Amino acid sequence: MSVGAVCFPEYLKTRSGDNEAFLMQTLRDTPSVWARMEQAERIAPVHATGNYSYTCTRMHGPGWVMAGDAFAFIDPVFSSGVYPA
Ligand SMILES: Cc1cc2nc3c(=O)[nH]c(=O)nc-3n(C[C@H](O)[C@H](O)[C@H](O)COP(=O)(O)OP(=O)(O)OC[C@H]3O[C@@H](n4cnc5c(N)ncnc54)[C@H](O)[C@@H]3O)c2cc1C
Repeated sequence: MSVGAVCFPEYLKTRSGDNEAFLMQTLRDTPSVWARMEQAERIAPVHATGNYSYTCTRMHGPGWVMAGDAFAFIDPVFSSGVYPA
């Protein structure tokens, strides 16, 4: 199973330690998530990446509409992409 967190930039800027500690603290901050994760064993390094998300301010106009990735993209991991598309 892969586990991650998609976060607002303002939150990510509060990170003071390494990525692993930050991910674990983020998981701990949501009790329902932590209840599932606290016994888990991590078997691969924690990776971080950014700047995937975007959204447009306008979705349609006369004779045109934007759907799916043309309008917005949230993240490449958690299966939101195919759902809006
Ligand atoms: C590496 C990666 C992994 C992903 N994994 C997941 C996942 O596990 N689950 C999930 O839900 N989402 C995932 N996504 C996101 C998901 O693939 C997209 O959000 C979704 O495919 C968007 O569908 P779409 O129809 O909006 O755009 P697209 O699938 O990009 O379709 C747009 C189509 O328009 C065509 N096109 C472009 N310009 C023109 C033109 N001028 N004339 C004619 N045709 C044109 C393109 O060739 C393309 O076929 C992933 C994305 C990437 C990059």
